[in-house]
Amino acid sequence: MLEKNSSEGADIRFECPHCGREIHGIDAHDTDWISCRSCGKALNLASQLAMERANYNYTFAQELATPELSDLHRRPNEFSPEAKDALYAYQRAYTGIQLALRAELPAAQQARAIEIMADIAGILQRHQMISGLEAKYWIQLMVCQTVREEYEDLEARLSKSHPTLLTRILHHPRWQLRRLQLRQALTRREERLKMLERELAFIDAPHI
Ligand SMILES: [Zn+2]
Repeated sequence: MLEKNSSEGADIRFECPHCGREIHGIDAHDTDWISCRSCGKALNLASQLAMERANYNYTFAQELATPELSDLHRRPNEFSPEAKDALYAYQRAYTGIQLALRAELPAAQQARAIEIMADIAGILQRHQMISGLEAKYWIQLMVCQTVREEYEDLEARLSKSHPTLLTRILHHPRWQLRRLQLRQALTRREERLKMLERELAFIDAPHI
């Protein structure tokens, strides 16, 4: 969020995605990368500001969204003013996250960014504001992320050196089979994702 401060110009404030503390007193023209004063982690300023605005627009769009947005027979220019505002706020959030993803985001923030992109891509594609291929890419990315999380979680539990009752249960052949299925699904989906990436031929490929 940009807050005007009469004596010092624009005072930029946002929450550190690593530690949750507020970052302030930054001059946007100083540098691209800054360090959080609380946790010391490096942050790309342009990406953080783009994410901040995108989150704001996404929440705003969700609050305004009406069932009209799901109506495939209605064109955006026939929407009510609320539905139009919601659609354009979704569009701003979408382009904002694309901008934010030009630099590497912290893992949890990146996961959230992908989740939002998959959601908005479905809406924008319904109204021909992005191509079906582009929507497929973000949705596939979201699916890959979900499968990878489940696989890594299972891997971590199975590799614990002091098995608890739960991890002993996980050594049951059923869970070994699940691990194999997840790994195969992940390989398949990642291949499909790479194919979509090639077909889309991004100028500014997302940093994922
Ligand atoms: Zn921090």
